[in-house]
Amino acid sequence: AKEAGRGGFCFFAGDMNAQALQRLTLENDLRRALDNGELEVFYQAQVALVDGRLTGAEALVRWRHPEKGLVPPAVFIPVAEETGLIVSLGEQVLRAACHQLATWQRQGLPRLTVAVNLSPRQFRQPDLVDRVAAILAETGADPGWLELEITESAAMQHAEETIRALRRLREMGVSLAIDDFGTGYSSLSYLKRFPIDKLKIDRSFVQGVPDNGDDAAIVQAIIAMARSLGLALLAEGVESAAQRDFLQAQGCAVAQGWLFGRAVPAAAFERDHLAGHGA
Ligand code: C2E
Ligand code: CA
Ligand code: CA
Ligand code: CA
Repeated sequence: AKEAGRGGFCFFAGDMNAQALQRLTLENDLRRALDNGELEVFYQAQVALVDGRLTGAEALVRWRHPEKGLVPPAVFIPVAEETGLIVSLGEQVLRAACHQLATWQRQGLPRLTVAVNLSPRQFRQPDLVDRVAAILAETGADPGWLELEITESAAMQHAEETIRALRRLREMGVSLAIDDFGTGYSSLSYLKRFPIDKLKIDRSFVQGVPDNGDDAAIVQAIIAMARSLGLALLAEGVESAAQRDFLQAQGCAVAQGWLFGRAVPAAAFERDHLAGHGA
């Protein structure tokens, strides 16, 4: 039994080393990717359920790895977050999205919201607001077109500092959304203190509607909560007409999901969603 135990331990340790090595390789690869401009921003449509009209786009980062091809964010965002690389990654994405929205503005498109994800680590930078202001100035992007998405848990940490930062962003004209809403633990009273504009209902709940009673109840509760706080709503991950119909019937006006389009490069987004809007 002792032998087996030791063997088990050795196997485990070896496994850990392989994992650590893989992580280190990924970290080095990612550093190079940031320097070489291998990151690209894709856009996913956000639409009004009543008529399918485009209301905005979420900017989602993709990594075009020279050998591995397109690497999904689930693989590298956690590593970027752990190593702190997320700060420069997030800034690259914000800059690219602001350049893009400035281009759409100049083309005379009706206003649409371009939503950019802010990681918890970016959000904790003391000079975040100044950095956002600098990128807006540099790109000529209208702050009224920019929405920043933060997760519930990031918002709930260091509440007082967070509220101050959110206020300043809003004073600049940037709007704010809580991402993955429902997966954290914010209470109604807590939420009320946050200067935010929108709740994004997490995909995990949307997936279950209309058939799963628990998910349906949660989605209804979130919609009621948003209404009583005067917040806008967006449902994430809508894949079926049945989900869309349920959400619309319950009073959720805007959605995002594969039913309306996947995240695609800017050129494809323009072709699929902006043609006929002046682009
Ligand atoms: P998220 O912010 O919740 O983004 C939504 C994710 O759901 C995206 O995955 C999107 O492609 C996917 N999605 C959209 N509609 C559907 C649908 O109908 N069905 C399904 N199954 N999935 C759908 P993606 O692009 O792989 O991004 C995953 C996560 O990586 C994002 O989740 C976000 O947390 C993070 N991420 C992506 N880009 C950035 C970024 O620029 N900065 C930061 N900090 N995080 C990012
Ligand atoms: Ca998001
Ligand atoms: Ca989300
Ligand atoms: Ca998510």
